[in-house]
Order: sequence, then C-alpha cells, then structure tokens
Amino acid sequence: MKKIAIYPGTFDPITCGHIDILKKATNIFDKVILAVAQSTAKQNPMFSLEERVYLCKESVKNLKRVEVKEFNGLVVNFAKKENANFMIRGLRAVSDFEYELSLALMNKKLNNDIETMFFVPDGKYLYLSSTIVKQVVKLGGNITDLIPPIVEKALKEK
Ligand code: ADP
Repeated sequence: MKKIAIYPGTFDPITCGHIDILKKATNIFDKVILAVAQSTAKQNPMFSLEERVYLCKESVKNLKRVEVKEFNGLVVNFAKKENANFMIRGLRAVSDFEYELSLALMNKKLNNDIETMFFVPDGKYLYLSSTIVKQVVKLGGNITDLIPPIVEKALKEK
C-alpha cells in the first residue's frame, strides 16, 4: 500500500521553511500532496488562492513525489478523498506547539484514521514564517536565501 501524506497550509506565500519540511517528508512517503487551503483562519491573505497555488507549483517543481493541490473545507475530508493517511505539519518554536496540538487532536477526533506527523525544520528556518517574510520584503529587506526566487519576485511586485 502506498504511503500518502498531505501537507496542508495557507502558504501565503510558500517559504524555504515549508520546502525544507516537504523534502524531509518525501524521504519517508511515496507521495506528498502540498494542499493549499482556500479558506483560511488567517485574515486577508496577501496572495489569492490561484497565486498561492502557482507559487507553490513553481517552487516545488523539481521535487519528486510532490503534488500541489488546492482544497476547501475540512482538511480531513480532503485527505480521505486523496487516500492520504498522514498529515504533515511543521513545528518551529514552542509557540507553534499549543496550536498544532489542538489542531492535531481535533483532526484525530474528526477522522481517527489520519495520523498527524510533525517535522522540525533545519535551524536556519526555525524562526521563519510567511508573515515575517511579507513584512521584511515590504520594508525593503533582502532575504533571498529564505524564499524561492519566484516568491521574492511576486512579493516585490505586490
Ligand atoms: P497554516 O495557516 O495552516 O498555519 P502555514 O502555511 O502558515 O499554514 O503553515 C503550514 C505548516 O507549515 C504549519 O504546520 C506551520 O507550522 C509550518 N511551517 C511554516 N513555516 C515553517 C518553517 N519555517 N519551518 C517549519 N515549518 C513551518
């Protein structure tokens, strides 16, 4: 049986931290679906769903065993539709922990067949978030090594 995982998120926009997690996951799973959420708890994403999906697709096109898809509604329902039994999330600082734990427990309650697995990124991405990336580029900072070139271009255009 193929081991399929989904990696859900807002990806507003995708960063090298997300890609680092994806690379680690592809060493374990036969297929990893990067699932871009249409509806997000985060207010007013900077990029539209189409833009976020496009930037993800371009950023991971060289990664084997990764597919980019969009989804709407409950993530566990999308996972089931895709025959994924695993859900991947990234854990950075302790601040992620409470939120990620509540999410994992709720998803477990909604579908007991789907197991959440946490991955820790390389140290250089530990304090990297889409939010901080947006702020820094807005203020004219250079963070070339933390985001894919296509994302940097898109952010500057925004
Ligand atoms: P969400 O809106 O679901 O939190 P994000 O796109 O912000 O979506 O994040 C998706 C997942 O990737 C989350 O589990 C988040 O903790 C993780 N993540 C985000 N940035 C990094 C990073 N720099 N290193 C590791 N994991 C990360």
